[in-house]
Amino acid sequence: MVGKSRRAARLPNSTRGSEDLCCAPVSPTPDVIVIGGGVIGLSVAWRLAEQRLRVTLLDRAYCGREASWAGAGILAPCNPHRDDSVYHLHERSLALYPDFCARLGEQTGTDCEYERCGELELLFTQDAWNIACADARAAEGRRTSDGLPRFEMHAPQRVAQLEPAAATGILGAIECRQTAQVRNPRLLRGLHQACLRRGVDVREQTPVRALAMNRDRVVGVVTETDTFAARWVVLCAGAWSSQIDARLDRQIAVHPVRGQIVLLVCERRPFQRIITRGRSYLVPRRDGHVLVGSTEEPGAGFDKRSTARAVASLLERARQLAPDLGQAAVAAVWSGLRPGTPDDRPYIGAVPGFEGLIAATGHYRSGVTLAPATAEAVSALLRGEQYPIDLSCLAPGRA
Ligand SMILES: Cc1cc2nc3c(=O)[nH]c(=O)nc-3n(C[C@H](O)[C@H](O)[C@H](O)COP(=O)(O)OP(=O)(O)OC[C@H]3O[C@@H](n4cnc5c(N)ncnc54)[C@H](O)[C@@H]3O)c2cc1C
Repeated sequence: MVGKSRRAARLPNSTRGSEDLCCAPVSPTPDVIVIGGGVIGLSVAWRLAEQRLRVTLLDRAYCGREASWAGAGILAPCNPHRDDSVYHLHERSLALYPDFCARLGEQTGTDCEYERCGELELLFTQDAWNIACADARAAEGRRTSDGLPRFEMHAPQRVAQLEPAAATGILGAIECRQTAQVRNPRLLRGLHQACLRRGVDVREQTPVRALAMNRDRVVGVVTETDTFAARWVVLCAGAWSSQIDARLDRQIAVHPVRGQIVLLVCERRPFQRIITRGRSYLVPRRDGHVLVGSTEEPGAGFDKRSTARAVASLLERARQLAPDLGQAAVAAVWSGLRPGTPDDRPYIGAVPGFEGLIAATGHYRSGVTLAPATAEAVSALLRGEQYPIDLSCLAPGRA
């Protein structure tokens, strides 16, 4: 039970409305309000609460039920040709993950099934083979934490030895040993528990309707029934981030990109590594479930339905990558809304013109991967510390 003294200050209803707060009796508090309880908001809230900041997290529905739940839980490195902040943020987050999951396990007893299972990209065409060779060359000399080459090219015979269930009729494969996975629904349950245990005041079914402003300063948030005051507000509302307040339209341009997944179930785990081809993937869980993903549909807007066409195409792609999956049972289909941005980069940083507001959103296809590093970066920003990665290219309001 969270004590009243741990809560962000609530202002009476009569002071509601985002503009009239300049006259409201706002008592500055050291609390942080996190908007949104997906993997990003929960990771940020947990981290800040561990640092003894008083945190309130507001979710319009229930924590961990949107994109972060719908995702496949692949923890993938960036393209090895990149050498920018996004690449380094991926590297840092992947390095943080084992400890992140271990601490979650210690604090909540959750096993997120973190596993550096690796990834095998099957190469069906000469073009795909050439691109993979260039990737392997770009990563030459880079090693995993246990000293193995991160990337390795394999001939078809070797692929058949490594993963007998993988498709034949390929030119070969590129193995990425750095790729890992987590069981994201479990990760989310663990993060939610960890937040509660650290005293985060988690309020579900509490949609934020606007920011509470005093001139250029964000002093809290307005919900349907209350205004919550805090010194800092962190915006983690995923695909809905641009809808939080119309005044953010020039700083935060996040749009939904629907992704559909089919869940298959086999008697036992059919392969060890994640098997991919381009943007199609098969993720084997320990208990025989295999996730088949995913579509990329920016035109669907906020529509979260699964469609017959997408499900049929995902099943066909699954059989191309691992023919025996034709025998597997279909356990479920679902979709989620990735938070996309115009340049595919997340927004992590202070929002210009909105003092006290930090954005941590727009993670598109990599929110689960980037959650630990994003939480670390937000914590550094709030504490006025230098973050080891230059985040300027992720700044809200960038052109
Ligand atoms: C099919 C699919 C597969 C994916 N696979 C992977 C993968 O393998 N690896 C990977 O790293 N990433 C993957 N992703 C991307 C990843 O899931 C997202 O980048 C990540 O979940 C974004 O997290 P989030 O916390 O920002 O958003 P969300 O999880 O969507 O959470 C946002 C939260 O904000 C809340 N909210 C919204 N509006 C308000 C409001 N007004 N007031 C209060 N709360 C509000 C919502 O209720 C929600 O709980 C995948 C995504 C999809 C859809």
